[in-house]
Amino acid sequence: MTEQHTERIAIYPGTFDPITMGHLDIATRALTLCDRLIIAVGDNRNKSPLFNIEERIDLIRRSLESRGVDGRVSVDSYSGLTVKYAQQVGASMIVRGLRVVTDFEWEFQLALINRAQNHEIETVCLMTSQEYSFLSASTVRELAMLGGKLDKIVSPVVLKALQSKFNQSTKAADVRDV
Ligand code: ADP
Repeated sequence: MTEQHTERIAIYPGTFDPITMGHLDIATRALTLCDRLIIAVGDNRNKSPLFNIEERIDLIRRSLESRGVDGRVSVDSYSGLTVKYAQQVGASMIVRGLRVVTDFEWEFQLALINRAQNHEIETVCLMTSQEYSFLSASTVRELAMLGGKLDKIVSPVVLKALQSKFNQSTKAADVRDV
C-alpha cells in the first residue's frame, strides 16, 4: 500500500503590529516543519494597533517578498478563536515564538487552552534567535516614535512605513501647536 502524503499546514498567528525580524525569523524556520505556512493576523478588538489590519498584512507580504521567502508562506487575517481558524484552513499546527522566560508562561497557558478546544491541533513553540531575544513589536513602535535605529530589527518596508506614520503624527502635532 502506498502511503498518502497529506499536506501539513501550519498557522503562525499574532498581532504583527508591525512584523519584525524576530517574526520573520520564526516564520522562515517554521517552514522546515510544514509544507505550507499561513501567517495569520489576528483582528483583536481589545488592542488598538498602530497599523490597521490591511496595513499589517501588506507589510508582512512586502517584507516576505523583499527577503525572498518562498511561496509556501501566505498571509491572511482572522477574528475569533485561533483554533477555529486553524480548523477552517485545515491546519494541524500552531506556531508561536518564545523569547525570554516570561513568554513561556503565557504561551504555555495559550497552548493548553487551545488544546482543550481542539486536541488535534498541536502548538509548536520555536525559540528565538539570540539576536532577536529582546525584540518585540512594542519595542519597535516605541523606538520608531523616539526616532531610534531600526534598520537591523525591521525590514526596509516596515522602516519606511514607521517613518511615514510618525512623521505624519509629528506634522499633525506641529499644525495643532501653531
Ligand atoms: P501576540 O499579540 O499574539 O503575542 P505578536 O505579534 O506580538 O502577537 O507575536 C506573535 C508571536 O511571535 C508570539 O508567539 C511571540 O512570542 C512571537 N514573537 C514575537 N517577537 C519575537 C521574537 N523577537 N523572537 C521570537 N518570537 C517572537
